[in-house]
Amino acid sequence: MAQERELHESHAGAADRAAEVVRNHQSGPLPAGLYVVATPIGNLADITLRAIAVLAQVDVIYCEDTRHSRTLLAHFCITRPTRPYHEHNAARERPRVLAELAAGKSVGLISDAGTPLISDPGYKLVREAIEAGFPVTAIPGSSAPLAALVSAGLATDAFLFAGFLPPRRSARKTRLEELKAVPATLVFFEAPSRLADTLGDIADVLGDREAAVARELTKLHEEMRRGTPAELSQWAGDAAPKGEMVILVGPPREAPVTDEAISARLEPLLAEMSLSDAARTVAHDLGVPRRKGG
Ligand code: SAM
Repeated sequence: MAQERELHESHAGAADRAAEVVRNHQSGPLPAGLYVVATPIGNLADITLRAIAVLAQVDVIYCEDTRHSRTLLAHFCITRPTRPYHEHNAARERPRVLAELAAGKSVGLISDAGTPLISDPGYKLVREAIEAGFPVTAIPGSSAPLAALVSAGLATDAFLFAGFLPPRRSARKTRLEELKAVPATLVFFEAPSRLADTLGDIADVLGDREAAVARELTKLHEEMRRGTPAELSQWAGDAAPKGEMVILVGPPREAPVTDEAISARLEPLLAEMSLSDAARTVAHDLGVPRRKGG
């Protein structure tokens, strides 16, 4: 009972503090400029306190889809005016946004979900705002590639986000060939209708690696499937999973260094240096212990 009360008080305290943080952020006028604001990728609670504070204060919010964003904005009682900014009207709308920035307004940019510009509109607007000398501020938060990466269990020291692969098989395979040697975890977006085919192509071109499919992250049917690309392609073909997906593919597996490879590197060096120096050089170059290098 005491434990329950403590937990309840802790929740209430955290909520009060969150409201205070939002209020503190709103205590002065928001400086003019473009605010690139991340919104949740599913779970509405993933919005940041700063995103709420900024969206509640900007003069206008440019949305990829105003009707879609209305639900999110209404959920947080945000009543600022909205205007559409999407791939079909972006060229027409950009001069208007730049004029608003020139007039000293604060302008928010959001997409349907996650971080704007990440396979979403906004790149040209940010470029042009910077070229015109207006401040551009990121209000960071959710983004599907990072949420997928940190829960997939694949290498995180280096990763390459490659967006959506081309829908046509030949172009997709060409792109995968370009990425084949990249020593990093590869992160792709994919539509459910193409998941099995794309994973099949990844298996053909990138071969036997660790991989994962992150589905419906932060939502009710959130799922992480791990396996080789071939196994995942088989699963996707059989189960026809629905929803939003991120595909992750680990870096190429390191080929073991053979004795032949060591000898081939060692022999020419022996003409120029001592055995011990040559062994040290080969061990360093091939990343093997020195005893093996010589
Ligand atoms: N800008 C967004 C971001 O930062 O996450 C991504 C927008 S992109 C048009 C949409 C793609 O993101 C989807 O097709 C899917 O591949 C991925 N995605 C978005 N939400 C997701 C989620 N909850 N779980 C898994 N993937 C998601």
